[in-house]
Amino acid sequence: NSVRNEVMIVQRTCEDEFKSLGNIRVYCRIRPFLPGQNKKLSTVDYISENGELLVVNPSKQGKDGHRMFKFNKVFGPAASQGSILDTRPLIRSVLDGYDVCIFAYGQTGSGKTYTMSGPDALSKEEWGVNYRALDDLFHISRNRRNTISYDIAVQMVEIYNEQVRDLLLSNGMQKKYPLYHSQPNGLAVPDASIHSVKSTADVLGLMQLGLANRAVGATALNERSSRSHSVLSVHVRGLDMETGASLRGTLHLVDLAGSERVDRSEATGDRLREAQHINKSLSALGDVIFALAQKSSHVPYRNSKLTQVLQTSLGGQAKTLMFVQINPEAESFSETVSTLKFAERVSGVELGAARSSK
Ligand code: ADP
Repeated sequence: NSVRNEVMIVQRTCEDEFKSLGNIRVYCRIRPFLPGQNKKLSTVDYISENGELLVVNPSKQGKDGHRMFKFNKVFGPAASQGSILDTRPLIRSVLDGYDVCIFAYGQTGSGKTYTMSGPDALSKEEWGVNYRALDDLFHISRNRRNTISYDIAVQMVEIYNEQVRDLLLSNGMQKKYPLYHSQPNGLAVPDASIHSVKSTADVLGLMQLGLANRAVGATALNERSSRSHSVLSVHVRGLDMETGASLRGTLHLVDLAGSERVDRSEATGDRLREAQHINKSLSALGDVIFALAQKSSHVPYRNSKLTQVLQTSLGGQAKTLMFVQINPEAESFSETVSTLKFAERVSGVELGAARSSK
């Protein structure tokens, strides 16, 4: 992009798994059954080590109810938090001047929050992708401090009914987390406040405040987090102390709204409007990733606020990782299939491999 062309880029050393496999990766994770749920009626028949997943419709007999999918990786219900992703290669990319976007897609209750944040921020073992990524970011940047000096700053916005809201806008917060000295170029949301951070704890503190702000605007408090998208953007500026070269990278950690379709005959008013906005933005996200994967000359970023906000980190040299979350319960079968179809569309073309059978 033009901003990046203006600066001399520090030589990139990153060797990561994205390099040979394209910039869009899709990992599927199957949530375990929760206490009290009927384990006998699982929609997931088997998963293979090379990323295959066979789902069955528990109410249909024989082959008609089977469908095979294939992704870059598939994780079963027993996969631990630490095994689903080594965040270090992606973080090295950010610190080398790339944009990286990580998000989880799936219906409400499929484990998006579990994967991205984890069940307990105090237990390092249980940390989700977000905390691991941030921890690596500060750790690796500190290890490089003799050669590159890094400046790190954070924004957090919510997208609800196609409106973008700054989640870090509050006077009290600016005392604790000072506003960044200048608005760096190339921000996805130039109007949103941007705060300097020095440690994982700083970012976690800001995220807590952002989440509290998210709830304040809620019409139905417990529902809001699954009906809006939130985007935490970590902006990194590096200065090579020997050559004077500079670089810029961004890490976007995205908490997407639940992808479940709302029954039009049941939803009315606010609920229907929310559902329409969520459908629109998630399909716009799918269209953008699909266009990128096909190397299409037109990428429809303008079709939703979500894709506008993520524009700089979807496409070009940016790396995108999507976790597709599956709830294995029988009653989720049709949502599961539509989630998997979305993910298949997003991942299928980029890798050029033969995709699902029936
Ligand atoms: P979502 O964010 O998609 O709405 P959650 O992450 O809140 O879903 O998960 C729904 C429930 O399932 C929560 O109680 C969560 O703790 C549990 N859960 C999800 N994934 C796992 C997992 N991998 N292991 C254990 N429990 C999980």
